[in-house]
Amino acid sequence: MQNITILGSTGSIGMSTLDVLARHPERYSVYALTAHSRVEQLAEQCLKFKPQVAVVGSAEAAQQLSRLLQAQAPQIEVLHGAAALCQVASASACDAVMAAIVGAAGLESTLAAAKAGKKILLANKEALVMSGQLFIDAIKQSGAVLLPIDSEHNAIFQCLPHNYARSPAALGVEKILLTASGGPFLTRPLDTMDAVTPAQAIAHPKWVMGRKISVDSATMMNKGLEVIEAHWLFGAAASQIEVVIHPQSVIHSMVSYIDGSVLAQLGNPDMRTPIAHALAYPERIASGVGALDLTVIGQLQFSRPDLQRFPCLKLAYDALMAGGSAATILNAANEVAVQAFLDEKIGFGMIAQLIARTMDSLPLCAVTDIEMLLEQDGLARQTVNALIS
Ligand code: NAD
Ligand code: MG
Repeated sequence: MQNITILGSTGSIGMSTLDVLARHPERYSVYALTAHSRVEQLAEQCLKFKPQVAVVGSAEAAQQLSRLLQAQAPQIEVLHGAAALCQVASASACDAVMAAIVGAAGLESTLAAAKAGKKILLANKEALVMSGQLFIDAIKQSGAVLLPIDSEHNAIFQCLPHNYARSPAALGVEKILLTASGGPFLTRPLDTMDAVTPAQAIAHPKWVMGRKISVDSATMMNKGLEVIEAHWLFGAAASQIEVVIHPQSVIHSMVSYIDGSVLAQLGNPDMRTPIAHALAYPERIASGVGALDLTVIGQLQFSRPDLQRFPCLKLAYDALMAGGSAATILNAANEVAVQAFLDEKIGFGMIAQLIARTMDSLPLCAVTDIEMLLEQDGLARQTVNALIS
């Protein structure tokens, strides 16, 4: 029996994780569930999955949750705030942590799980992108196991040799081919991009996801963050990570070897597959995802990304190659710009421009500890906010 903490259980990944867990009550129990503000949804999850602890964002939310649990589940401990997230991510009673908070808000708790040597199922790519080497060092020092949930990275993980150790050349890996659906604006006329609304941007053609990652998919910053994520997870240089547009989202990514072999992982676009894979690894369990029928899909298409249409993808490659604080700044600037777009304060095209201007205006530095990291993150946020206002 594995005892699981889900950081961000009310989100898209959190809900898919609970869906998989509910199929295997003999293998998994829930240690803790956390949500930022959706207290009623969290209360329903608590009544169904009976965690030992539930964490919310504020004291008011905690009071509300306690009231909702009073009658049927008064034994569940209700906590709130950032320290409580770290506590449930590192508690000795917890075996594995699903890191599914969106954005930099998930960094501290994901790092806490890394330092505590947990099995980490990593959905929160922003945490790894912004902290890079610091995160990898924490994993190495504690002996934590890091398993990718992002469908592309989970696919790559499945296509790599089992004894792969973050060193492509050692085992004949030539390239990582990261597939991308291209999002909702793959063919939209370029001169109409400024008129894109938040509702249009979050209507992804293949995946149902949270709002932030959906906008990231529309700008292709999501793929840019994934390039950086692949660098840290698999030790591949920027030149060894190639993005391929594949609108059907059936091939979730590929690994190309020096002998000419290309291995791919295929499946229906449903996050329960990578979630089930990582939960049970190295075993396999049912996920609830239907069998892939390629005869129904008929055709698989591939093309190169157009960097003029998707400047965010280029900015992410630039940040990876620049190193130091560049990815931290890129990630922070993107988070603020995406939120401003969702709040209808800026147009769609401004997202990339704001990130580029922020990266140009902040000098790069080496990031050697978490305090410096948070300082760079804060500086980038201030800079974008100043540019917006
Ligand atoms: P979502 O917006 O649906 O859910 C986010 C979760 O984080 C919610 O439970 C919310 O309560 C919590 N949260 C938000 N702000 C918080 C804060 N300040 N403090 C504490 N908790 C907070 O997002 P999602 O689509 O589930 O994505 C979660 C993560 O997984 C993201 O990093 C995303 O990039 C990654 N991811 C998602 C998908 C997907 O299909 N949805 C695929 C790959 C990777
Ligand atoms: Mg992905």
